[in-house]
Amino acid sequence: MRASKEFRLNNNSYLIINSGSSSLKFSLFIGDNSEADLTGIAERLATEQAEISWKYQGQKSEVKLADADHAQVLKKLFAVLSELNLFDSLTAIGHRVVHGGEYFKESALITPNVLNKIEACSALAPLHNPAAITGIKAVTEQLPDIPQVAVFDTAFHQTMPAHAYLYGLPYELYQSQGIRKYGFHGTSHQYVANKAVEILGLDKADSGVITAHLGNGCSISAVQNGLSVDTSMGFTPLEGVMMGTRSGDIDPSIHQFLANKLKLSLTEITDLLNKRSGLLGISGSSNDMRTLSAQAANGDKQAELAIEVFAYRLAKSIASMLAGLSRFDALVFTGGIGENSFLVRGKVLNHLAVLGFELDEKLNNKGGDELGLVTTQASRKAIIVQTQEEWVIAQDTIRLTQPA
Ligand code: ADP
Repeated sequence: MRASKEFRLNNNSYLIINSGSSSLKFSLFIGDNSEADLTGIAERLATEQAEISWKYQGQKSEVKLADADHAQVLKKLFAVLSELNLFDSLTAIGHRVVHGGEYFKESALITPNVLNKIEACSALAPLHNPAAITGIKAVTEQLPDIPQVAVFDTAFHQTMPAHAYLYGLPYELYQSQGIRKYGFHGTSHQYVANKAVEILGLDKADSGVITAHLGNGCSISAVQNGLSVDTSMGFTPLEGVMMGTRSGDIDPSIHQFLANKLKLSLTEITDLLNKRSGLLGISGSSNDMRTLSAQAANGDKQAELAIEVFAYRLAKSIASMLAGLSRFDALVFTGGIGENSFLVRGKVLNHLAVLGFELDEKLNNKGGDELGLVTTQASRKAIIVQTQEEWVIAQDTIRLTQPA
């Protein structure tokens, strides 16, 4: 199904790195294969339990690396690539960087100047950007000659107009503090929007789609003629639809109320909204849609309620995205929930029947027709598209590092 021969026909390989504060995920793409050839993760970094695991040619391996940090993990990874005879073909490295602020409207070849700007965005993403910077610096130190590329979660949404990205706050807070909507999951929204336009045979220059990326984090985007014109996540990934453990939109006055009534600190409230809310908060048992769906099927009312609230808030957010579009061709579902949960897709489309959606239950239950459509012939189109975030990062890495 995946496009594979669009770009390289050689055996160059490209390593994609996603650095978190205590983890580092990686994927290696070789030659013209668009499916990662080697994937892995290093977890619990800087603790005694730190370890790295990877999968290559169907075989899983795991090595304990007690107290290893990002740099030590990368050293081990490069050694593993050497042992597998994959190191010499390593041509470039791509990094997922969460926040590019207003500096980056697209991916960038990493230079000292680019790195400075990523550092300048750390205030906006204090948990994420420093981790990416650590990863970039560790590569630079160990492999100073290898070109590196940064691919930003926020870049795709930089085309949003001011009326979509500004909050109803004093304008001075935007000017002095950069408080505005940035949006996230841009790589995924861009990829699935383009793919849907291609699959449905639409004219990209005159197209309007709404993309719903539903994983552990969830966000919606309005994409007009291939450009993001609005999105549900905002200054941080906490805004917008309800998620696995995040509340999504709430009345901002709840902060004050919780502080007064329960004597919670701001940090505790932020923690509550990010880690103990959403599906987990309402169900009281799980943040995982697959688990909750099974519980609801067995009569667990609280799990059922969590799914109902999730689906309704999602439908409401999707409908709100219409304001950004001048035409509406299709709704696109992606991410673990969007691609797999017929229950959520069904509930969302039923809430949105007024927009002309008519669910084809059979198609929805089996994960779509050959194109991925889950709606009837007469309906406005809703389609499932598998997201490919790592592959998109690999493509940008290749594009920006290949000699002209
Ligand atoms: P991440 O955002 O971490 O990449 P994913 O995109 O993998 O996460 O999505 C994880 C979510 O997808 C979880 O809530 C999981 O339960 C859900 N999911 C995966 N498979 C199914 C399934 N078959 N049915 C319902 N939900 C599913």
